[in-house]
Amino acid sequence: MIAIPVPTETKPDFELPDWLKQCFNTSQTKEVRLICNAFEFAYQLHTGQYRKSGEPYIAHPVVVAGLLRDLGGDSAMIAAGFLHDVVEDTDVCIEEIEERFGEEVRQLVEGVTKLSKFNFSSKTERQAENFRRMFMAMAQDIRVIVVKLADRLHNMRTLEYLKPEKQCSIALETREIFAPLANRLGIGRFKWELEDLAFKYLEPEAYQEIKNLVSERRADREERIEKVITILSSRLAELELNVLEMKGRPKHLYGIYQKMQRQQKEFNQIYDIAALRIILDKNDQYQCYRALAVVHDTFRPIPGRFKDYIALPKPNRYQSLHTTVMSFNGRPLEMQIRTIEMHHVAEYGIAAHWKYKESGGMSNTKVSSDDEKFIWLRQLLEWQNDLKDGQEFIESLKENLFEDDVYVFTPSGDVVALKRGATPVDFAYHIHSEVGNHMKGARVNEQWSVLDRPLVNGDIVEIITSKNSHPSLDWLNFVVTPTARNRIRQWYKRSHREENVSRGRALLEKEVGKNGFDALLKSSPMQTVAQKCNYQNVEDLLAALGYGEITLNQVLNRLRDTVKAEQPMAETSLEAEVREQNSIRNQNTAKGNKAPIAGVEGIVHYIAGCCKPLPGEPIIGVVTNLRGISIHHQGCSNLDEVEGDRLIPVSWNSHNINERPPTYPVDIKIETIDRVGILKDILARLSDQHINVSNAGVKTAYGKPALISLSIDVCDLQQLDYIVDRIKNITDVLNIRRVK
Ligand code: MN
Repeated sequence: MIAIPVPTETKPDFELPDWLKQCFNTSQTKEVRLICNAFEFAYQLHTGQYRKSGEPYIAHPVVVAGLLRDLGGDSAMIAAGFLHDVVEDTDVCIEEIEERFGEEVRQLVEGVTKLSKFNFSSKTERQAENFRRMFMAMAQDIRVIVVKLADRLHNMRTLEYLKPEKQCSIALETREIFAPLANRLGIGRFKWELEDLAFKYLEPEAYQEIKNLVSERRADREERIEKVITILSSRLAELELNVLEMKGRPKHLYGIYQKMQRQQKEFNQIYDIAALRIILDKNDQYQCYRALAVVHDTFRPIPGRFKDYIALPKPNRYQSLHTTVMSFNGRPLEMQIRTIEMHHVAEYGIAAHWKYKESGGMSNTKVSSDDEKFIWLRQLLEWQNDLKDGQEFIESLKENLFEDDVYVFTPSGDVVALKRGATPVDFAYHIHSEVGNHMKGARVNEQWSVLDRPLVNGDIVEIITSKNSHPSLDWLNFVVTPTARNRIRQWYKRSHREENVSRGRALLEKEVGKNGFDALLKSSPMQTVAQKCNYQNVEDLLAALGYGEITLNQVLNRLRDTVKAEQPMAETSLEAEVREQNSIRNQNTAKGNKAPIAGVEGIVHYIAGCCKPLPGEPIIGVVTNLRGISIHHQGCSNLDEVEGDRLIPVSWNSHNINERPPTYPVDIKIETIDRVGILKDILARLSDQHINVSNAGVKTAYGKPALISLSIDVCDLQQLDYIVDRIKNITDVLNIRRVK
């Protein structure tokens, strides 16, 4: 740690401003001590550094701190003003700031340092808006932005010492990013000065011309305004309206220039260059309307020029009455009428709250409800109205301003706004569906990244594509944007049609049985079902079933309803079930001369769905009322309900070695680490063993293992045990069990 001497107000090479001297002389409260210590620390660290202007470097942070003090910033902000450049420009680290000045100052300094690293080279208005939003999002605490604005304002004031190229880029950035931010926060005095300074460097000739014209006519203008003031003063006094201040208002030059551009007019056609402002000393908006009545009664108002920003404040909370009247010699004069409180809001914006919070707080300000542009700011203000005191308001400003969005860069510096939680895959699909569909990998901040990592503000994302790469269904488990989700589904639909159709077929066949299945697909009830589900034909329906756009239950329900409606006498679902069981028996007995199960020769029988026993497991038969004999595992819990005389002994026959053994369905559940490609790995193992998968499902929940459910067909317990072992060996598989 650097040893810092006791703070003193005399420096050999630097004259402290009066307010800072006063800090040293007043009784040392905690706040004032923080300010003095921060100054001393910054002074020591910047010793030997100079600005381009030749001044000692400390002059810059001192002005910045002074600007923040004028805005009514708290001691932490003023300290941050002194310290905002030390991390960047000296070898002190952020931890030391915290040790000396506490966590709050550290966070402000850290925020400003972070924002300083951005080089905003905006290209379009939309990009500029994204930059501004990102800037806000990254700052997290509005005070950070205010410190940054003060820093920028002083840098703009001293821009003449930089090289011309540098001047232009900084001025452009100021016009596109910082002045709108100041406006957004309602800090009018920062906004006007930033705009005029940017104007001076970006359009030097126009700036000089307007400046000259304005000063040429100053005498004339001031004389006119004096006359108006004399007349209005006495009339306002008659009505006992307490005018705190009434004076001519210099309009800012860039505003005049913009108006000339916008309205395609010459300087002398811009009639409201002479402007008068009336500030009333009571916080009573009705006084403003009464003053307006006096003005309109004295001078003829120009139609269409009256604006009531008191009843309908601007989104940044600006309130005033605006009107333009004809003054002497037919010369128009623009008027603003407001209370002192409204004036503070106009000048200091969001910071007005800091400045005046001690003096009784502010009355509720009505906020325009029809302006959708700056919803977030309105919300902020609405919270403000709900909050009890200023302290709480400031606390609320420290919260993240854009919780729902994350702002990232393309490698060429464009900003992309995505939903929070968005991954490189979402980013790729946002750029273009073809980028997503051929995405091979992603580099985030020049490092290879896994595809499911959520992006954070400021990440630079580069998508690597290759002609042969394709989307993976696993991506659906982690993408958060609807665009990405839909595009992946679409791609899958398009490119896997055959696969999807046959998967859909298999799903349906498993449910309704093999016998007559093809006939069913061609039947009129099936056509009807397809149409009812909004598909062109049965094949489309099967494809949809295959990739999960429609569920098996939906199809079966529709089918049942349709069959009932079309053929009242058609087989019941029970009969359909019996048919299915027959089909198992037929399938099982078709080839071998030996039935797979001994003891039920010639009798209708089926494997019970509750326990699904496999060859190799002890079994027992149960005589059912309608459906022949069901074959259960001897340990099946359903047997407890069965009376003894309905049980018959059965056993597995060994199958003929020369025949392909019959297979039996088994359900298994696998718990795995949730990673890309795990399902594919498992399916590959099964496929190696020529094991058919008739159904597969994946469930994921954030922070929990993924749960994969598979229905597979195996020929006996031995094969099941073998395959379970194989799956267990796959990396990331946590647990596997059979479901009964
Ligand atoms: Mn600075």
